[in-house]
This record gives sequence, structure tokens and C-alpha cells, in this order.
Amino acid sequence: MSGEFRSFQKTWYDEFDWLEYSEYKNAAYCLYCYLFFNSAKPEKFGSSVFAHQGFVNWKKAKDIFNNHNVCKTHVEARLKCEDFMNQKTNVGRKLVQISKEEEKRYEIRLTASLGVARFLIMQGDAFRGHDESSTSLNKGTYREMIDWYKDKVEIVKEAYEKGSKNCQMLSPDIQKDLTKACAEEVTSVIMDEIRGKKFSVLIDESRDVSIKEQMTVILRFVNDEGKVMERFLGLQHVQSCTAIALKEGTSRRRKQKFQMRGYFQPCPL
Ligand SMILES: [Zn+2]
Repeated sequence: MSGEFRSFQKTWYDEFDWLEYSEYKNAAYCLYCYLFFNSAKPEKFGSSVFAHQGFVNWKKAKDIFNNHNVCKTHVEARLKCEDFMNQKTNVGRKLVQISKEEEKRYEIRLTASLGVARFLIMQGDAFRGHDESSTSLNKGTYREMIDWYKDKVEIVKEAYEKGSKNCQMLSPDIQKDLTKACAEEVTSVIMDEIRGKKFSVLIDESRDVSIKEQMTVILRFVNDEGKVMERFLGLQHVQSCTAIALKEGTSRRRKQKFQMRGYFQPCPL
């Protein structure tokens, strides 16, 4: 410029902690204004040049940097940036804290719901009720047992009442999910029992009241103590009773079991 070489000076970094330089654009920027520029209040030395276009007037650079350093727009942006960097008041941190509390409550709800499901499975009792609404006098064994649990244990009551309303672990789908997860766990225990031993498969089918063919699968084997064991794996709906249909039904059931592995993921909050 005017026969002189001018450029950005490294030493300016020491004087202005907000200064940033883009080699690609050969322009200087202000970090605070770049992040928190208030376009509604443009000002001479805090203009959008430092925030967006980039400053390139190296001749008067230091004077303008000094002016920018004290201008209102810049000071406001700096304060916003400092607030953002202050982790104790950071909104993100508050959200993480809330999520952790909710995660704990979710764990309590999940454990309580699973405990009730396991008890009902063990007793072979029905889960569902005719009317499961909150005003119902009898919401079915599952929901009534959860209410009983809530009355007995304060922490469980708090976990259900303060917990996220879209993740209460009470819906019919959740009841089925918990039951399927229990079935999966029982199956893996049976598989551990068999390990590499020889076993036979007992298959029988029968037609239920809705005229659907149901196939039962039972495994028979000798365990480590030399006792003959028979383990019921489950029921599978089949289209017909031919040997091929029964074989396909068995492999479909095995595939479903496989897909259920890793069913429970952390709470998506
Ligand atoms: Zn600035």
C-alpha cells in the first residue's frame, strides 16, 4: 500500500485477546463479535466487519482495534461470551443435571415395573385389566400392583409422579416389552444349560379358539447332574401343520429371539 508492505502482525495477538486472523481470507476477526454479534445494534467500531466480512485495513489497524475494544457492541458480545463460558450458569449444564435426575427416576420406574412383571410371570397371572384408565376402580393386576408399590415405597412414588409423562413404564406396550425381555433372558439361561450338549426338540401343534395353528417348542436334554430336563421355549403361530411349515416356524422364532437381544437401551431423554 503506497509502496509499503503491510500485513497482519503477530504481536497484535498479545494486545487483543479477542483477535483472530484468517490466512485464507487475509482478514482479522473478533472472536466475541463473531459468536455473539447483535445485528440489531450496529455501531461504528463494533460493526459487522469484525463479525462477518473481516477487517483488512492494516494501516490503521491498532487504532481501530483499540476503539473496537471499548465499543458497546463488543463489550456486550464479550460479556455474553463470558457468561457462555461460565459452566456453572450454562444452560447446557442445567439440562444435563435435569437429565441425570430423570435418568435416575427412569431407572427406579424400570426396576419397579420389571419387578412387578417378573412376579406376575412367575405366578402365571394376567397383566391387563378391563379398564386401565386412571379413574378405574380396578386397573388390572399389573397397574394395581404398581400403585400398591408406590404407596409402600416413597422413592418409587416420587419416581412415577415426578417422572417424564411420556415414559411412565406402564403402557400395554411396555408390559409386553418387559415380558418379552424376561422370555429372552429365560431362553438364554436354557441355552447356557444346554451349551454343546445333545438335545431333542419336541414339537406339537394345536388349533386355538380363534382357529390359529399354534406350535409349541420344547427342548429335552440331560443336564450336568445327569437329570433329564424338559424346557418349554414358547409358542409360535404357524400357517399350516406340514413339516416344512413347522421347520420355518421354528427358525422364525429363533430369529425373533435374536432380534430381541439388546432390547433395552438407555432412556432416550
Ligand atoms: Zn468485538
